[in-house]
Amino acid sequence: MNVNVQVVENIMSANERLAAENRKTLDGADVFSINIMASPGAGKTSLIERSLETLLPGKNVAVIDGDVATSIDADRAAAAGAQAVQINTGGNCHLDAVMLQEGLAQLDLENIDMLIVENVGNLICPSAFDLGTHKSVLIASVPEGDDKPYKYPAMYRGVDALVINKIDLLPYIPFDMDYFKQGVKILNPDLQIFPLSCQTGEGLPAWLKWLEMG
Ligand code: MG
Ligand code: ZN
Repeated sequence: MNVNVQVVENIMSANERLAAENRKTLDGADVFSINIMASPGAGKTSLIERSLETLLPGKNVAVIDGDVATSIDADRAAAAGAQAVQINTGGNCHLDAVMLQEGLAQLDLENIDMLIVENVGNLICPSAFDLGTHKSVLIASVPEGDDKPYKYPAMYRGVDALVINKIDLLPYIPFDMDYFKQGVKILNPDLQIFPLSCQTGEGLPAWLKWLEMG
């Protein structure tokens, strides 16, 4: 076997092992967790803010934010009332199970009902690194264009729910919803889809219902 292939396989199996540990930790503390992935600017932090408005104070929600730099997103989650931890990946373009483990260690898991992980904005490698969360969510947004399922199939294949954000922009942008959904259906036929707008609030109730049902 090629040495580089062996190295990559070892890294991936170490990640799988740690992801399983994280899942056990979360299950042990009875914390439902989701991993939110998307390209930069799709609205991950905005969706988290809008979700917190409804979830808090009925639920204790924590947010772990992964970013290459700054704590802007964790500051926003904290301002919205969540326990928030920022993980700076130091240039890495995705979160992995080690980083999540470090984030979990900073939280009072026994007093948390739900954990929302905001992954680094990137449509490629986050899908390859299981973190140990219970559900994976992808946010697409109207300005990114209707061809994204066709261009980033791995991302669409591996998730449990898909949010289509910024639907308030549909009148202004050439985005063919049927073409988009057709691409999604080929890759992930049973995927739950939530078209919504964090700006206007349209479509948010269905998403929140899914989130609260766990
Ligand atoms: Mg963000
Ligand atoms: Zn990466």
